[in-house]
Amino acid sequence: MKNSSLRFRFAPSPTGALHIGGIRTALYNYLLAKKLGGTFILRIEDTDQSRYVEGAEKYIIDSLKWCGITPAEGPGFGGEFGPYRQSERTAIYDEYIAKLILSGHAYYAFDTSEELEKYRTEAENTSRPFKYDSFTRLQLNNSLALPPETVKEYLEKNMPYTVRLKVPEDESIHVQDKIRGEVIFHSQELDDKVLRKADGLPTYHLANVVDDHLMGISHVIRGEEWLPSTAHHVLLYRAFGLEDNMPEFAHLPLILKPTGNGKLSKRDGVKLGIPVFPISWVGESEESSFTGFREAGFLPEAMLNFLAFLGWNPGTEQEIFTIDQLVEAFDIAHIGKAGARFDYEKAKWFNQQYIIHSSPENLANLLLPLLPEKYKPVSQDYLISFCKLMQERVVTINDFFENGYYFFEPVHTFDTKNIAKKWSPALKQTIQNLIEKWSACSPFNQEQIQLSFDTFMQDNQLKTGDILPVFRIGLAGTMKGPAVFDLIELWGMQEVSNRMNKAFDHFDKTLLS
Ligand code: GLU
Repeated sequence: MKNSSLRFRFAPSPTGALHIGGIRTALYNYLLAKKLGGTFILRIEDTDQSRYVEGAEKYIIDSLKWCGITPAEGPGFGGEFGPYRQSERTAIYDEYIAKLILSGHAYYAFDTSEELEKYRTEAENTSRPFKYDSFTRLQLNNSLALPPETVKEYLEKNMPYTVRLKVPEDESIHVQDKIRGEVIFHSQELDDKVLRKADGLPTYHLANVVDDHLMGISHVIRGEEWLPSTAHHVLLYRAFGLEDNMPEFAHLPLILKPTGNGKLSKRDGVKLGIPVFPISWVGESEESSFTGFREAGFLPEAMLNFLAFLGWNPGTEQEIFTIDQLVEAFDIAHIGKAGARFDYEKAKWFNQQYIIHSSPENLANLLLPLLPEKYKPVSQDYLISFCKLMQERVVTINDFFENGYYFFEPVHTFDTKNIAKKWSPALKQTIQNLIEKWSACSPFNQEQIQLSFDTFMQDNQLKTGDILPVFRIGLAGTMKGPAVFDLIELWGMQEVSNRMNKAFDHFDKTLLS
């Protein structure tokens, strides 16, 4: 049932490719919104001009679309609480900043960045690092410390200024976190955060709180790294007189490196040769370009299933969950506090399971656009049969063409090790005879082919182990592929005969010299 008061948001900043942790945050918000009949919203937090990266918003949206986590509201998705891009909301923030100044919860600060840098350097070797806070603000260049006429004069002269939150001197801040329980901060630990920068734009803190309020957000579910900021956010709600109407907070556990030591970083992907992004990102240089789960051959459903388990568990043994089953099973109560290890092997296992359980028709549809040009044209039926024979033998979508190239072109590498001792030119005639026998199979299917093979072996007192591997290597070049009789059924006598003749030449050349 739809509940319009339950509103969940994913609020990324377009500062580059979206790390897989961002997709997990989006997924958890999406799942809860769906489960509770709420709304999932995308908000682009792009007020930091210095970190803005061209193309990042598109990347975020493309990633969400690929995953199938589509927002009901957001830039390009419609919705009645827009605009959903913070850079288009500056007039709203100005209004809220003015309110805070008027009520005495924020003040003008005229200190230049050079001055602040100097204070920081001076304090470096002391026991108390420099902080702009209730202890220092009265000694600094701001509207709390300066006479009102000076402040007026500075403002009239258009002197650059920032606006800072006046953190109360002695108050405690209780954050009720749905995952961590009560987290208590004391105002003395907190600095007077900048709310409006000298360029006139709001900071993350101000814009985030104003928008969560105006967009009617009921739940703020985000990464653990934002927990310390929550203290400032609560103070902002308090300053606006909105503390009783704050959203509920839940801070998700960290995603750890595969070793379990430390937070998974963007660079880990390159270092370990594994994807840590949903889709690839082409940066300016090789170091700033990243490959994605999509390009690594993952199905989005498998990746989401894997991500769902990075921090949550259903409390049962079940591991495979479709998105609908996740919606059904998901709840905040089963999200853990401890960091979750990014186990790429487990991600591959999920993908393998999804491929095994997909229909060959569905896989063929996925593979069609990826079909290398040189393999075209290929009939839909052939592609379906290919998927059916290969799907239990691959881990990623890319493996299909990598491991099964010989379905589309002649074998180029024969793994003859396994037949080195078995090969003799006399086998050529035996195999020709066998192939001729198969022509009589009716229907021409793998059962009949196998039956005829077994009879032939008996009649000629041959051992399966001496003949079958020769076929396998001859037809596919490898011992690993699908069952020989399945390949024969698919390819038919002519193709089988051609392939074996070509292989005979190769065997003679490499095994008899
Ligand atoms: N813009 C923040 C980010 O990039 C959002 C944090 C939040 O969800 O409040 O992650």
